[in-house]
Amino acid sequence: MCNKEENMLLTHSFRDEDKILGIIKYIHKESKKLPYKLNIMEVCGGHTHSIMKYALNKLLPNNINFIHGPGCPVCVMPKNRIEQAYDIALQKDVILLTLGDMIRIPSSKGSLQNARSEGCDVRFLYSPLDALKIAKENRDKKVVFFAIGFETTTPMTAALLDKALKENITNLFFHINHIVVIPPLESILDSRDCKINALIAPSHVSVITGSKIYTSLLKYKIPIVVGGFEPLDILDSVLKIINQVNSNSPTLEVQYKRAISKDGNLKAQKLINKYFILRDSFEWRGLGEIPHSALRLRDEFVRFDAEREFDKILTKNKIYDNKLCICGSILRGTAKPNDCKVFRKVCTPQNPLGSCMVSSEGACAAYYKYGSN
Ligand code: SF4
Repeated sequence: MCNKEENMLLTHSFRDEDKILGIIKYIHKESKKLPYKLNIMEVCGGHTHSIMKYALNKLLPNNINFIHGPGCPVCVMPKNRIEQAYDIALQKDVILLTLGDMIRIPSSKGSLQNARSEGCDVRFLYSPLDALKIAKENRDKKVVFFAIGFETTTPMTAALLDKALKENITNLFFHINHIVVIPPLESILDSRDCKINALIAPSHVSVITGSKIYTSLLKYKIPIVVGGFEPLDILDSVLKIINQVNSNSPTLEVQYKRAISKDGNLKAQKLINKYFILRDSFEWRGLGEIPHSALRLRDEFVRFDAEREFDKILTKNKIYDNKLCICGSILRGTAKPNDCKVFRKVCTPQNPLGSCMVSSEGACAAYYKYGSN
């Protein structure tokens, strides 16, 4: 059986129409007992795309509102980090490597794609470990990996660094942009304009960290359900939230039990802790500076640090988003893509003004792609 067939079999039962319609009917029934409107923040962009793709927002009753969260690592990266990558790419004898949609995110000077069209050696990786091969094949160049992502992808960067160390690779550097999920959620839940009264927490992050990381959010006394990304996972998470509210017992619950344990992947956590430590503070697009919300290399591995290697040319200044772009408000959960005046008109995936339109996990990209469902 080929991988595609296996994948279809695996996902099929979580997209079964009869089951979806059955649970939606039950949600409608139970939601009538709700004492207040539910504003559920789905933290991850993967959830947002599933909600829009399967039109779950339209199929649920009016007293259930999805608010899109800051769980897209590309979307929350501030412009000055992207500009740093751009400026490194411009240097002589540098190969800049990155993953995913980072290559198309605009900085005030241009995107990494623009740098590549100007002749810079910018490469897209399918796996961080490919960086090792590129570094070995280009010993006369500085190979810089622009590392980005939540706890889900940090172990891959740690594994790459581990291998580089063991194989004594001296021309590989890391621009570390790994972020952690709890501090931005606390920042949002603490804000005065916060309307969120339930969370669907990201499951892929939790596979690494375990569900225990969310216990610090229990102080907000709202339902927190760690949910998977398939439509039935999301609907089941919503039902669990409704049941918690109706029984007046908000708590932390794991819906995605097929992959998540309380303690997570201890081996991956050990690898992360070996190489990384929390930064004092890190700027997030839309959320500003958040203490202890991102990682940096531990001091003993500073020789791999691209921020030290290229310190003299890297901008440290804050760079503001395009004035028309409300990505910041969308990432804080106080606006939706439809509230943006230039959505679909000036800002499109072909001509993105902000990162939320570029990233495959961005809320604006989801609204553009699936529109009115
Ligand atoms: S539609 Fe474009 S300009 Fe508007 S918020 Fe989204 S990314 Fe920014």
